[in-house]
Amino acid sequence: MNSLHMSNHPLILHKVTLLRDVRTEPKKFRELVRELAILLAYEATSDLKLSPESVNTPMGAATGQRLQHKIGLVPILRAGLGMVEGIWEMMPHAEVWHMGFYRDERTLKPVAYYNRLPVGATVQICLVLDPMLATGGSAVATIDILKKWGAQHIKYVGLIAAPEGVKRLSEAHPDVPIHVAVVDEKLNDIGYIVPGLGDAGDRQFGTG
Ligand code: URA
Repeated sequence: MNSLHMSNHPLILHKVTLLRDVRTEPKKFRELVRELAILLAYEATSDLKLSPESVNTPMGAATGQRLQHKIGLVPILRAGLGMVEGIWEMMPHAEVWHMGFYRDERTLKPVAYYNRLPVGATVQICLVLDPMLATGGSAVATIDILKKWGAQHIKYVGLIAAPEGVKRLSEAHPDVPIHVAVVDEKLNDIGYIVPGLGDAGDRQFGTG
């Protein structure tokens, strides 16, 4: 059974409220997505493994620690793009692998249109980034692809989830922890999270 982690950090809950607000304009919306992504990735990576490492300070030798594993950031296009940059600044050695799906508005199923993963897995830990875990279709399809690619450890990092998306992802990939700020009430009949924040892609890119 995979674990669902909802944040109870006051900064995250405050920022999610600003993000939801219909009056929040794209510039501020992008800033909030970026900041929330950093905070949520910080929480999601609290169990990363370290190896001891010695460094010399100007005052002498110190015993430090270094991250053991190479991390891959896997934004699901297009809304996941806004979550990459801030996290990447915190982990500049991460690799970024884009996954493109669009949602068929009739069937609500994800249709893959972009994926340029190299032949073999080059990272040990993948963070799948998508602000909205709605039906869970794109997240499940992305993780299916990553597992076939050879990814061993995968975590999902998003902002807002619907109970339906959490259920679908948990059933399909019980080993993948889900890190989100909040889980909302439900999905509506066209696959939007209620109350959610509307379309996370449109609100970031000003296309609504
Ligand atoms: N994608 C969004 O951007 N918003 C939703 O509510 C659901 C899916």
